[in-house]
Parts: sequence; C-alpha cells; structure tokens
Amino acid sequence: MFLDFFESKGHLKMKSFSLVPHNDNSLLIINSGMAPLKPYFTGQEIPPRRRVTTCQKCIRTGDIENVGKTARHGTFFEMLGNFSFGDYFKREAIHWSWEFLTEVVGLDKDRLYPSIYLDDDEAFDIWNKEIGIAPERIFRFGKEDNFWEHGAGPCGPCSEIYYDRGEKYGCGKPGCTVGCDCDRYMEVWNNVFSQFNNDGKGNYSELEQKNIDTGMGLERLAVVVQDVDSIFDVDTLQALRNKVCEMAGVKYHEDEKQDVSIRVITDHIRSVTFMVSDGIMPSNEGRGYVLRRLLRRAARHGRLLGIEGKFLSKLCETVIEGSKDGYPELDEKRDFIIKVIAEEEDKFNKTIDQGLSILADMEQELEKSGKKVLGGADAFKLYDTYGFPMDLTKEILEEKNITIDEEGFTAAMNEQREKARKARKTTNYMGADATVYDEIDPAVTSKFTGYDKLVNESEI
Ligand code: ATP
Ligand code: MG
Ligand code: MG
Ligand code: MG
Repeated sequence: MFLDFFESKGHLKMKSFSLVPHNDNSLLIINSGMAPLKPYFTGQEIPPRRRVTTCQKCIRTGDIENVGKTARHGTFFEMLGNFSFGDYFKREAIHWSWEFLTEVVGLDKDRLYPSIYLDDDEAFDIWNKEIGIAPERIFRFGKEDNFWEHGAGPCGPCSEIYYDRGEKYGCGKPGCTVGCDCDRYMEVWNNVFSQFNNDGKGNYSELEQKNIDTGMGLERLAVVVQDVDSIFDVDTLQALRNKVCEMAGVKYHEDEKQDVSIRVITDHIRSVTFMVSDGIMPSNEGRGYVLRRLLRRAARHGRLLGIEGKFLSKLCETVIEGSKDGYPELDEKRDFIIKVIAEEEDKFNKTIDQGLSILADMEQELEKSGKKVLGGADAFKLYDTYGFPMDLTKEILEEKNITIDEEGFTAAMNEQREKARKARKTTNYMGADATVYDEIDPAVTSKFTGYDKLVNESEI
C-alpha cells in the first residue's frame, strides 16, 4: 500500500538495496532507507528519478539491548520510505504522510501526534494551519530527537509521527506523554527535511537542493494496524515466533524470562538470515563479527529455552518462506544460507556447553571472593577458546550484576595477537614449518588466463 501510494504521487519504486553498503566506508551495515541513497542526496550520483520510494531491509545492532524488552525494537526491520532529491519538500511530505496514515491506512486521527524540531515554525504551521492539528497536540523536541545529522553534510530538522496505543501500554508514570520512552506513544514515522549543509564546524547554510528523507518501520505500522502488543505479535513475526516455541517445546506468555529469549531468537534469526543472503559470512571482524555475535546470542538463548543442538539452520527456513516474496534473494540462496548458518552453529555448539560451565565456575569463584568484576584474561579465554563474543559474556554476567574488565580483555587480545605475529615469522598459520612452503612454492606455477580466455566446460 505504501509503495503504491507513493507511486501514485510520482515516485519510482525501487527494490531494497543490499545490507552491505556500496562504496561507503562510513557505515558497516545499512540501517535506514536513506543510507544506500546517500550519493543521490549529496549530488554525487544522479538518481533515476527525483522521487523514489523503497522498502529497505535494515539492521541496527545499536538497538540490541532493547530487543525482546521493548515492544518496538528489532535488530532487523523493514523501513518504508519516500525520498525527494531536490524535488518536493516539507509541505508535500507532511501532507502525504498524513493522507497515507489517515485515509489509506485509516488510522484514527485523534491518536496521532506529530513532533517537530524546536524552532521549525514552518513545520508547525503546516501541521497546525493546513492539516488542522491543535497546537497542544504538536510536540517540540530538541536536537537529540528532531534534528537529523551525521557529521558534516546535508542535515536538517525532522518531524515524527507518534501513535497513542492506549493506556494499557503506558508506563503509568506521571508526565507520560509523547516522547516518553515507554511503548504507549509509539513513534511510527520520521520525516527528515534535509535543508542545511553542516560544514563540519557547526556552521549551517541553506542547501540549494532541499531533500526529503522519510522512514517508517513496517513492523511498527503493522503493530498499530493489527492492534497487537508488540512487533513480535504481528502476523508475519508471530508465525516465526510460534516456530521458535514449537522447536523449544515452550509456550509464549507463560514466563517473562522465557518470552524475552523467544523474542530475541525471533528477531536475531531474521538479521542472520538476511545478512547471509547478502553475502556476509561469520568472522572475527567487521560485519562478519556482527553476524557471529547475533547468531551466537540467538544460540545461547536457544540453550536457555532448553533447545539441544542445531536449530537456527532450520528456523531460517521460516524466515525465507515468510519473506521470499518481497526478497527473492532469500529463496535463490536458500541452500547457501542454511549451510552457512549450520556450519556456524556446529562450530559454536562444540564449545558452548563447556564455555557456559566454565563461566559458571568463574562466577562461583568471584562470589567466593566477593568480587564483582570478571578479569580480562578470563573473559578472553571464553572468547578465544570457547567462542564467546565479549558482549555475550557481558550479557550473561549482567544478570548477576557482574561486569567485565574490558581493558584487561583488550590487553589479553593484543598480547595474543602479538604472539601470533611473532609465531608467523617461523611457522605458517596451520602450525607447520614455513620452510615447507618455501619448498612447495616453485612447483606451483599456475597462470591466470581469465582476462583473455573463458573456461570451456571440459576444463571444469
Ligand atoms: P526509536 O526512538 O523508537 O528508537 P528512532 O527515532 O531511533 O526510533 P528513526 O531513526 O527515526 O527511529 O527511524 C525511522 C523509523 O524506523 C522509526 O520511526 C521506526 O518506525 C523505525 N525503527 C527505527 N528503529 C527501529 C527498530 N530497532 N526496530 C523497528 N523499527 C524501527
Ligand atoms: Mg532508536
Ligand atoms: Mg525516536
Ligand atoms: Mg526517529
């Protein structure tokens, strides 16, 4: 509905871009609809049309701590967006977002609240005079919430739209209203008006080409439309959540702690499946490490639910089935996705139980000596020998109010790297004497012919 609506307003529908940023070192993984479109905003590249609309797969690991705890955060979500590259601006964007929510989706106007940047009177007037929203229903927030900027470059105020889900979702604290961190007034849509250029020193000048960049979480909109508790109760995610319960032999809503694990797995398997489908492989650095952390965190929550052995490599099929219509790459790479996840699960399964039991011993030792900080060397041992990403160890210990000596962990890691570097001088990484390779080298005389010759089938 969203894409069709904006198509009817002259936008070009484009497919979701990959989660792996293209020609952009400033970002590890795509986290918004606008991120892959940056070159069109800066003028570096010419857009195929000046109005574009997408449904973009996004990952935000910064939200990981919220996942399973709030109703509205996933590490993975789909962001609906409409974009203007120097074409329409504030007026149209606001009017269309209102038209979409109230007329196309049919949401109750009295439950919607816009927010604006402190001194953005232009946006205020549009909401108030043109749309007809009473002044007391328009919230003015500061830079943190309502001014979008990332270092130097295009930036500007934004206007968000919140939906009041009703008292039962509120925190009940005095003053709970739009902007409260609880799940009653849920932010559904962010309209960014990139109208300034920041020269990097805090000087703002008006941009000649004014842009619009908006983002609305599909899952959040579905929460509102389907009137359900959280993104994990939306029909599509519910099917996945039910599968998790089935595999674990547990029921949802029987135990709050269990429910958190169920939700964490439901979310993380989506991130993991989509990341692998975009070619990200588990590793110890960069986006590969993000993938590894998510996968291992999900595996550990599986253990908490009593799941024995591999399950994520089966669960990913439910993600594929549920999302393959929108993202055909999932279906095309099905076997590959299953294989990569299964291998990583196998790897971690070999050490997870032993690691957990060693960690339990470490905890006991700390308790005996009345300490509340796990030594860096111990945390590093769990990482290095048992494959526990540091934040996994941290999360397990948090429940017992124990922290990690992170500096000590880094020092242990550096020490090991240095040792490995020295060792490489005489031996290769497999532990063999490097001279073996000196001897083999002259025999390996392969010649690359790919530039001027195609492989013919008989050679394969
Ligand atoms: P919140 O304040 O709730 O964390 P946000 O202000 O960080 O959201 P934006 O950066 O404005 O979110 O992103 C645009 C839209 O994307 C949001 O209005 C919301 O609908 C959706 N969104 C953002 N983060 C998430 C997430 N972690 N899970 C699901 N949807 C999200
Ligand atoms: Mg956020
Ligand atoms: Mg927000
Ligand atoms: Mg926002």
